[in-house]
Amino acid sequence: MDLLVIGGGINGAGIARDAAGRGLSVVLCEQADLAQATSSASTKLIHGGLRYLEQYEFRLVREALIEREVLLGNAPHIIWPLTFVLPHVSKLRPAWMVRLGLFLYDHLGGRKRLPGSRGVDFTKDPFGAPLKDDVRKGFAYSDCWVEDSRLVVLNAQDAREHGAEVLTRTACRRARRGDDGLWHASLEAAGPGGADRTFTARAVVNAAGPWVTQVLGQVTGVNRPVGLRLVKGSHLVVPKLYDGDQAYILQNDDRRIVFAIPYERDYTLLGTTDKLYESDPGQVEIDADERAYICRAANRYFKRQVNPDDAIWHYSGVRPLYDDANENVSAVTRDYVFDVDGGFGKDSEGDGGDGTPPLLSVFGGKITTYRKLAEHAMDKLLPLLGTRGRSAAPAWTEHAALPGGDIANADFEGYLADLQHRHDWLPAHMARRYARAYGTRTERILAGAASLDDLGPHLGDELYGAEVRYLQQHEWARTADDILWRRTKLGLHLSEATQDALAAHLGETAGARTGAGARLKSARSQGVAAK
Ligand SMILES: Cc1cc2nc3c(=O)[nH]c(=O)nc-3n(C[C@H](O)[C@H](O)[C@H](O)COP(=O)(O)OP(=O)(O)OC[C@H]3O[C@@H](n4cnc5c(N)ncnc54)[C@H](O)[C@@H]3O)c2cc1C
Repeated sequence: MDLLVIGGGINGAGIARDAAGRGLSVVLCEQADLAQATSSASTKLIHGGLRYLEQYEFRLVREALIEREVLLGNAPHIIWPLTFVLPHVSKLRPAWMVRLGLFLYDHLGGRKRLPGSRGVDFTKDPFGAPLKDDVRKGFAYSDCWVEDSRLVVLNAQDAREHGAEVLTRTACRRARRGDDGLWHASLEAAGPGGADRTFTARAVVNAAGPWVTQVLGQVTGVNRPVGLRLVKGSHLVVPKLYDGDQAYILQNDDRRIVFAIPYERDYTLLGTTDKLYESDPGQVEIDADERAYICRAANRYFKRQVNPDDAIWHYSGVRPLYDDANENVSAVTRDYVFDVDGGFGKDSEGDGGDGTPPLLSVFGGKITTYRKLAEHAMDKLLPLLGTRGRSAAPAWTEHAALPGGDIANADFEGYLADLQHRHDWLPAHMARRYARAYGTRTERILAGAASLDDLGPHLGDELYGAEVRYLQQHEWARTADDILWRRTKLGLHLSEATQDALAAHLGETAGARTGAGARLKSARSQGVAAK
């Protein structure tokens, strides 16, 4: 094979897709489920990052702003525009500074579909209704929302459709350079039915996120002078704090910001935090200080007050950031950095070229910039692959829809109306949910069905066997948690009985669930917030 990609988060899946579409033979291995780590724990924004302008990250902000519209066009089912309301607090940031930031935001990145920013008078505008009376003025601007874990799955799906092999619950335990000029890798599959495999590859991409240095040192045995900063971020999900589709960006005294975002129809998503993290990235959990911090930020602005016990769910992740030696964890660069070792030629920046098979490791990055990151990774890697690299096809993903995203003119509501017209037996809320999750691939779930009975078996609430089958066959779903928390967020909506029926349908034994679902379930049964 040409390329082994280690890590099925957004960066690994994006690179595997890009490489496979250029004609390389690719294997992607993920030790857990796709998007099980950082890439399902984000704030879920495709955004330029207004805050990063203060840290002079102009390259990152510009690339991210341009990507908003590219990704919105490629996946209009799982990505949509979101209006952000910024209450003004003059002692935190003067109005001229905010206006300048928003001016740059409006103009740095080739905005076409998204509306520009504007000032808002909260005494007159409905955006002011949920806010305390002393919050009188502010601004509104646009960014986008993304279903982060679904973005990962769609990239893996597209990689497979371009010929890549995607192995979930398969860890790369060892990869070493052989005398034959190839990497020799041993992959270990977890669970029943999984077989350990060995592969040879011309190149390896290490996209292991929080485990990137561990994969470098322990898996590949390569010693590189690079450091990683793990910065934890947590979110709380609380019952809806306000009506309306707008999100709020709340300024804090520590110069950070906290978002309040309408979430899954019934809830508000609050977060995030920034905390240096030095333990196992697989065991990251919110702590009491973070819960209090997030609630304090919301309570400063909203009339409806919230406390940590109101949270019906929470999640945490660690940002795998390149260590730029910044003392302030909130200011460590969010930009991505590649580390290259080996190569059969040199890239345009002079990296590589010692005549050994190349290894490219990814540090940092944002969900927002994953597509550009993947393109840049291939630009760096192809010259290091010698003649094989020279025969690869050029960059292709900018105008390529992700699976289900081939919606005419990216007109989601138009597609939904058409879907409902063609399947008028499907309840409207199910049609909307399917269209949002699966886009045009909804047709594969509904194929041949003329009534709900044809989608059976019915597992309870709005969950039917046809959707579960689709997720197993096309999206690598194996466990109830894969389906309830990463392929969908049905874990927030389905009754316990339906969740148990799903687990039984998948052949899981009672009590096997240890992930988010199990935590929410135990919290519900105790009548308290998930711990
Ligand atoms: C709290 C928080 C909020 C964020 N909000 C945003 C946001 O709103 N917008 C945005 O654009 N970005 C956001 N980000 C950043 C973004 O989430 C990350 O940059 C991105 O998800 C990192 O993806 P990744 O693929 O590098 O890592 P991961 O998603 O962590 O993927 C790495 C994968 O590698 C696997 N792996 C590790 N070792 C092995 C091995 N030996 N073999 C096989 N597999 C292995 C892991 O299991 C894991 O799934 C946020 C991050 C955090 C933490």
